[in-house]
Amino acid sequence: MRESTLVMIPGPTPVHEEILQAMSRVTYGHTQGEFVQLYRETVAGLKELLQADYAVAIGGSGTLAMEMALVNTVSVGEEILVLSNGYFGERFARLAEAYGIKADLLPASLGYAVTAEEVERKLRLKRYAAVTLTHVDTSTGVMAPVAEIAGVIREAGPLFILDGVCATGGIDEPMRAWGVDVLVTTSQKALGVPPGFAILGLSQRAVEHRRSLGRIPGYYTDLEKWLPIMDNPALYFSTPPVHLVLALHKGLQMVQQEGLAVRFARHERLAAAFRQEMEALGLEMFTVRSYLAPTLSVVKYPAGVDDATFRAAVEEKGVLVAGGVGPLKGKVFRVGHMGNIAEAEIAKTVSAIEAALRQLG
Ligand SMILES: *Cc1c(COP(=O)(O)O)cnc(C)c1O
Repeated sequence: MRESTLVMIPGPTPVHEEILQAMSRVTYGHTQGEFVQLYRETVAGLKELLQADYAVAIGGSGTLAMEMALVNTVSVGEEILVLSNGYFGERFARLAEAYGIKADLLPASLGYAVTAEEVERKLRLKRYAAVTLTHVDTSTGVMAPVAEIAGVIREAGPLFILDGVCATGGIDEPMRAWGVDVLVTTSQKALGVPPGFAILGLSQRAVEHRRSLGRIPGYYTDLEKWLPIMDNPALYFSTPPVHLVLALHKGLQMVQQEGLAVRFARHERLAAAFRQEMEALGLEMFTVRSYLAPTLSVVKYPAGVDDATFRAAVEEKGVLVAGGVGPLKGKVFRVGHMGNIAEAEIAKTVSAIEAALRQLG
């Protein structure tokens, strides 16, 4: 890594030298043949990674992808079921409110996940247009039992929107097998590419449903505008983030070269190694053991350790870790261990945490 501070927050994650180099060039014209080919390959690579019928990657962020998922599948006045394991789960309810969509929030206790049984009970009581779920909630570190919940949703029939922002590229997400209709994700987390993308994987059913809606309250967010561009990037709708496309193209190539099974196993291994070291230091995970995610750890502060002082001390040792979000602010710190990192980055992070704790007594 070129910069001296190692960014071990749950996104953006460290960007590999090969990806930085792929971006280091004069700009392409966005309809230039060579660039169009790279964009085409990027979309194809995403389609394969997400196991989607259609893939969309446009300038934006994970939140834009979440917004697009809702606005393209649910109409004003319809109701959705929001399964929430934390801050990002709840974000779907806030987004729904902004569009006049009714959201029925089913929250889990902090550190726990909503269960398939709870979802089944809800779906028996009411018909929802869609159900939203966060694969890994980055605020609580909870990985949802997606396979089980997916089975319940498939049985009941509403559209299934899955937020894979803190999972895609680090944890298996068999979109087709699970029956996910819209998988939303972004570049800067487990894919290890710089921030700047809203990414969506879509099922055939999701695309047909979008068509059936006619006019939607969105323009840049309208999939009908973007699907033809993804099919043929030589067409123009809105200028793509040219250099980021080069980065994502390289990032996907690196994922392919590593191999998905190897990559997922690496995430499991690094997470286990990091947690073992934390436990050796006497620190505990906030997340309930059965819901721990391979992509990040949420660690409880021991009594008497001040959040800001601790994180400043860790940063002084060359590593950036994140604080808690919402009700967990000041009570936990969060470490991302996803994307293109290896044992060396884990070791450096553990040493910095250990040194900071010693320094604070
Ligand atoms: C980071 C994150 C988001 C938001 O992504 P942005 O790119 O910051 O908009 C949404 N959901 C989850 C699970 C996340 O981790």
